[in-house]
Amino acid sequence: MKIKSIRYGFANNSSSAHSIVFLGNNKIKSHSEGSDYGWDYFTLADKESKKKYLLLTLLRNDFVDFVPHTALTEKSGWINPFNSEEVIEKYNLTRDEFEKSKYGARAEYGEEIMKKIQSNYLVEEYKDIFSKEFIENTINEKGYIDHQSIIYLPKNLNGTVNNKFSKELFSILINENFAILGGNDNGGDNHPDAEYSALSKDKSVMTTLKVLDFIGSNVLCVYDEENDDFVLQATNSGNKIRVSFNSDLKTTKSSIPELIDLKITDNCSYGCTFCYQSSTKEGKHANFENIKKAILMLSNSRTMEIAIGGGEPTTHPDLLAILKEIKTRNMLACFTTKNFKLHERPDFEEILKTANSIAFSCNSVSEIQNVDEIMDAARNIGLYPGSRDCAQFYIQMIPELMSDKMFSESLEFINREMYDTPVTLLGYKDFGFGEKYKPKNRFKTSEWIDNIKYHSKENNIKFGIDSVLVSKWEKELIEKGVDPMALVGNEGKFSCYLDAVTMKVHKSSFSKEPGIQLTGEEKDIKKEFATF
Ligand code: SF4
Repeated sequence: MKIKSIRYGFANNSSSAHSIVFLGNNKIKSHSEGSDYGWDYFTLADKESKKKYLLLTLLRNDFVDFVPHTALTEKSGWINPFNSEEVIEKYNLTRDEFEKSKYGARAEYGEEIMKKIQSNYLVEEYKDIFSKEFIENTINEKGYIDHQSIIYLPKNLNGTVNNKFSKELFSILINENFAILGGNDNGGDNHPDAEYSALSKDKSVMTTLKVLDFIGSNVLCVYDEENDDFVLQATNSGNKIRVSFNSDLKTTKSSIPELIDLKITDNCSYGCTFCYQSSTKEGKHANFENIKKAILMLSNSRTMEIAIGGGEPTTHPDLLAILKEIKTRNMLACFTTKNFKLHERPDFEEILKTANSIAFSCNSVSEIQNVDEIMDAARNIGLYPGSRDCAQFYIQMIPELMSDKMFSESLEFINREMYDTPVTLLGYKDFGFGEKYKPKNRFKTSEWIDNIKYHSKENNIKFGIDSVLVSKWEKELIEKGVDPMALVGNEGKFSCYLDAVTMKVHKSSFSKEPGIQLTGEEKDIKKEFATF
């Protein structure tokens, strides 16, 4: 197993009571209360008990919600049970009818049919790992795993478990010397068998443990067939890794556009003289119908993340509806703004609840203070940026527009007043109005890297650096110890840009090439993406 690239750090899963440890040459015995993995300590080290736990964890991940919905549509075959809009539209249901069907299906179809559907599906998908008899017995046995002891398996964009990834992972956990330890962690004591865990220098073992740590939270998963890689993205933090179980080759071009910059408007009245989009208050908004078509195409391309930009996205009259359209298709919805009055909008609360992240463009301490006020406004209505119910806030800066002193003071302020707010640093783009405007403060030395290293190490500020800044400073970043795997960013290779105002696809938002005109009738944009 090999990690090909990382964006930001790994997510931590502090609420989980289970852990998977590598035993090295140590041997320990399995023990549990039958198939109950709940309050009492349990240890699973032999193949059979690990298999039982993994099958139960699979049932808890997928079928709790999956089977009742599926039963509703049994006669017409499988349908995405998590996409309520799809079910409602296809069966011409009201939302009330849909909700009733969700809970009523089990009663209507009965427990036995539920079990049969589960078992048929699992035999079909997991026959290489679990025998038919083992699956049927485990389903009938009704084992129990406490929610804290479940491994949250990565999900496809339609909300179902990614079986291909799970099978590869299960196979390693079952066949290698890993043990699953779980049970009550409320007393704060270590699991009694934790002392048998061993360190390993084996890269594959270390990678497996890192990936397990990563998938401890809600994670989306897309399989990139051409490279034999899985792309995993945590929905709460945006952290992303690309991992392969079989291929050691470096991936230089993805077959799926992982991230799309989606321009929804050319309108902006802030009048920045360096605006590389050349946006003005006369700029036009993209037509909402075109935006919906673009989102559908991206969903069909299996894009995981859409970063909305402009112009100023908050001037678009349909911003909230656009965010909802993205979320309905289980993609991550992010946007960048310089609107420091966001909290005065009537839809502020809904925007915070719908978007996954909001990046605020700031180029001074006073602008960062404005974001701090927006955060206060969010907390005042019970929403905490970065929590499960509220968008993560980011501060986005172009260091080349700031003096060393201003940059340093900005980071000090973020550290002092805005605990846990990540920072994204962008390179200055000599494009649009930016081609003529020459910033006075372009960094001449690499001191800024020392500055971010200090705040990252001492104050735990999380930094992201865009591909433009990376391309200018890659040598210095690596010399100063930044993980080269974190410096992926070739535009057009893993991401691209869709301008919904003109309906053109480009390699990046600052590409000087003419771009590819879409008709809006394309099913996806894979063909266009492949040309970059
Ligand atoms: S840089 Fe951003 S905020 Fe400034 S004019 Fe351009 S779109 Fe507006």
